Amino acid sequence: MTTLANRLKGGTTFTTPDKANDLRGLTPESWDCIDCGVNTAPGFPNRIEAEKEMAIRGEVTMPVTNECEIYTVRDSVWEKAGLKPMSGCLCIGCLEKRIGRQLTPMDFDDHELNAVPATPRLLSRQQRRRKPKTKMMVRFRA
Ligand SMILES: [Zn+2]
Repeated sequence: MTTLANRLKGGTTFTTPDKANDLRGLTPESWDCIDCGVNTAPGFPNRIEAEKEMAIRGEVTMPVTNECEIYTVRDSVWEKAGLKPMSGCLCIGCLEKRIGRQLTPMDFDDHELNAVPATPRLLSRQQRRRKPKTKMMVRFRA
């Protein structure tokens, strides 16, 4: 898997240093919840669509809004849900159903995606100190 070099600048930018337009392992194949099918990132392209846009424009920009449930959790939580890294997306409700309890702030790691806009449900689980913006751009750049 490619190591991500990321930086904050008018949103969050992830660069792909060695694989150019190849986003495998960097973005999910689809943003649909693998259990209930709800789109966890409305407005985001899937991996194939994102790679096509990167091939044309050198980057792909995705709007994160308060309709999104984009997050990362500690490996132990994801493993308890029966999943491997980058094996798909789960909405918060389906992740909680799989692990048999409500998520707490300790379940989330310090990845910067845990600071982007999110649904009220996700924000309530993370109990963030700083309230996020309602919209922010996440960008992949080759
Ligand atoms: Zn779901």
